[in-house]
Amino acid sequence: MEEFIAQGNDEHPGVIPHRTTPGWIEVIAGSMFSGKSEELIRRLRRAKIARQRVQVFKPLIDTRYSHDHIVSHSEMRHESGVVERASEILKQVRADTDVVGIDEGQFFDNDLVAVANELAQRGVRVIVAGLDQDYTGKPFEPMPQLLAVAEYITKTHAICVRCGQPANYSQRTVEVEGQVVVGASDAYEARCRRCFVPHADEPTRYDEE
Ligand SMILES: [Zn+2]
Repeated sequence: MEEFIAQGNDEHPGVIPHRTTPGWIEVIAGSMFSGKSEELIRRLRRAKIARQRVQVFKPLIDTRYSHDHIVSHSEMRHESGVVERASEILKQVRADTDVVGIDEGQFFDNDLVAVANELAQRGVRVIVAGLDQDYTGKPFEPMPQLLAVAEYITKTHAICVRCGQPANYSQRTVEVEGQVVVGASDAYEARCRRCFVPHADEPTRYDEE
């Protein structure tokens, strides 16, 4: 301990850490169909193989597929708790939890940023997956703020269904107003920058010849 102080490590003066390992925030951001949930589940599984204690949360709004699991489009799944507000995550995280995974981060309130910071400060590895843009191409809060405070960022890309280039946008294909329309391939498709239009557009038709 004396050596620790002698080296002048005064980044957190007076704060007694909850654990000896450092915490941090990882963000997995991208469009729909880009494999965000799949990447989150992959990291959580690896943490479990390493015998780390893992807890996972998703917002109440995302009830597609399963109420107590996070599920990727490719049917990978991982059990999760469902919470209505970001602040409930803090209440539910156990003292000995090493890794906290959060899916569909864009559907949480802005408190998610403070919650992720608090957990990381405690020494927890926090992994948040979510959409970084809404269907009009605007940054989707609170993901932009999380991207700013995260130590590690992964941008995932889908494939544009129009031209085959890497896709960074979620194209809405049904005429519905509002930022949140929970759905999958019946309401959205992946598009690249050139093929994306910032409002609802006709779905791409496939010629099966
Ligand atoms: Zn394209």
